[in-house]
Amino acid sequence: MKNKLFNRMTDAQRLEAFGNMLAWARHAVFLGGAGVSTESGIPDFRSRDGLYHKTEKRFARYQPEYLLSYECLRNEPDVFFDYYRAHLDARAVQPNAAHMALARWEKEGRLDGVVTQNIDGLHQKAGSVNVQEIHGTTWRNHCTRCDAAYGVDFIFDSIGKPRCPRCGGMVRPDVTLYGEFLPKEAHDNARRMIRDADLLIIGGTSLQVGSAAGLARQFSGEHLVIINKSRTPLDGEADLIFRDSIGEVLSAVKPG
Ligand SMILES: [Zn+2]
Repeated sequence: MKNKLFNRMTDAQRLEAFGNMLAWARHAVFLGGAGVSTESGIPDFRSRDGLYHKTEKRFARYQPEYLLSYECLRNEPDVFFDYYRAHLDARAVQPNAAHMALARWEKEGRLDGVVTQNIDGLHQKAGSVNVQEIHGTTWRNHCTRCDAAYGVDFIFDSIGKPRCPRCGGMVRPDVTLYGEFLPKEAHDNARRMIRDADLLIIGGTSLQVGSAAGLARQFSGEHLVIINKSRTPLDGEADLIFRDSIGEVLSAVKPG
């Protein structure tokens, strides 16, 4: 295993090695999942131990995936939008140390950008510019009939099934629901970034969701760093593995 040596290093040595990789890299990319947002207090909505089973009784009879599926949006829009408003409103949530470090690295020219499975817009809030949101975002909405675009408040501040003021069609979030294809442009950009990267930092995802696992496999660059509390299928290929908080690790890394 490639990471055998690193496993014998102290925390300080591993952080130093990470910093050297970041300083050396010409194209570093961060691929992140729900674990990046949980440190801002956002529950992992794809995890059965997370949000779903602590929610109100009215949602308890539904399968977790159903509440965020295209099927639910189409067949029971009132249930979909009630759930969506109650649990996916990240407007007041603040970015954490991980978001801040990544935004700073991009500004300093150390990081090409971020590929994220999260839909909460926290990377942009922290100042990141190149953010490929492969599961879409709650910050944009559009009319399913005339395609008019609406801002984040349009759905969260509405009641019932949101209607387009121009044509009366249903307005929905630009979020990839279960049963839908990933947004092509973001996914293509993400694939290109990861393919061209010489350092890939994977954080807060156990790579169980197909899209992230598929993207990670596009990487053939020099160094792979994984920051995740549980094991991932790519651990054996990683140069460095941290089982700690992403915010703590990224803010402790000193490039160079
Ligand atoms: Zn419309």
